[in-house]
Amino acid sequence: MTPSGFDVRPTAHPTAPQIRDTILESPGFGQYFSDHMAHVRWTESAGWHGKEVRPYGPLTLDPAAAVLHYAQEIFEGIKAYRHADGSVWTFRPEKNAERFRRSARRLALPELDDETFIGSLKALLEQDSDWVPTPAHEGEESSLYLRPFMIASESFLGVRPSKEVDYYVIASPAAAYFKGGVAPVSIWLSSHYKRAAPGGTGFAKCGGNYAASLAAQKEAASHDCSQVAFLDAIENKWIEELGGMNLFFVYKDGRIVTPRLTDTILEGVTRGSILEMAAEEGLTPEERAISIDEWREGAASGEITEVFACGTAAVITPVGELVTEDGSIRLAGDNGNPIAKRLRSQLLDLQYGRREDTRGWMTRLA
Ligand SMILES: *Cc1c(COP(=O)(O)O)cnc(C)c1O
Repeated sequence: MTPSGFDVRPTAHPTAPQIRDTILESPGFGQYFSDHMAHVRWTESAGWHGKEVRPYGPLTLDPAAAVLHYAQEIFEGIKAYRHADGSVWTFRPEKNAERFRRSARRLALPELDDETFIGSLKALLEQDSDWVPTPAHEGEESSLYLRPFMIASESFLGVRPSKEVDYYVIASPAAAYFKGGVAPVSIWLSSHYKRAAPGGTGFAKCGGNYAASLAAQKEAASHDCSQVAFLDAIENKWIEELGGMNLFFVYKDGRIVTPRLTDTILEGVTRGSILEMAAEEGLTPEERAISIDEWREGAASGEITEVFACGTAAVITPVGELVTEDGSIRLAGDNGNPIAKRLRSQLLDLQYGRREDTRGWMTRLA
């Protein structure tokens, strides 16, 4: 039993160290998984119970399991970073735990308490800490990506919240999300598809939002863009976010603007952290509505000097151009994105333990 109360059933077939090391040298993203997974079960009658860490492997689900039909599912994304002394840390997990509860409420799933959420990460990392890559040098952003998720597992085709639910955490070694590092990406503006509508699930981290974004993602790929930017569903005018990342705009006068939170925007931990870090970087953070016209005009006039996207997986990535059906929006001057780069290295230095953690944002996992 781990300190967080998880029963441990170790795998009889751990990955051979040489094979693991080969994987960790070049893990890509989301292709390989560690030897174990954490699991907690919930039933309406018994509540949360049966905390365990068990061998990674296929789930047995009844074909009628509710999640397979009505997508009652939520997830999280968080990373484990290895520090120079070998210890393993994660970044603001209480924020993910809180968001996971918020997502659960919206999808009519049971809330998992924060202690069990963070305990599940610790319990898994106690077993699989060897799966956390050791960055070969300072610029290398390898980590162990942790994916907590919750599914409706009751076999029942009626439409109502599931009375049986399973929570899992799996772990996947990850290299930098975008191969180009901080090379600016091109983004497609979806003019037809919408990611979220008021009263919908946009603020929740649920698989359904991603399923709904894939057609737009395909459209983006056909325009050589790696991501999609979405506008609001009512006026088709206000910038919301990308399919899986929040957006920031840097102004000439030092303001840094991100769309204010509504129920159609996912509250990113990276977004919130950048807002909190802005002042000490000499920037003035602003959360407000920002229109596509403001982006177009600010980019043309030079008023907007940088645009960047942010999220746990890709950290901070400069946006080089926004490709739209009426042509491309590019910043007037290419200044090399100094602010995106500075914020990015500040965040990474903190996450990898190269900078003092004055805010208590890091939690040790192993
Ligand atoms: C996960 C996610 C983000 C980024 O959130 P972080 O907590 O910073 O990783 C942004 N937008 C969407 C839609 C997401 O799913």
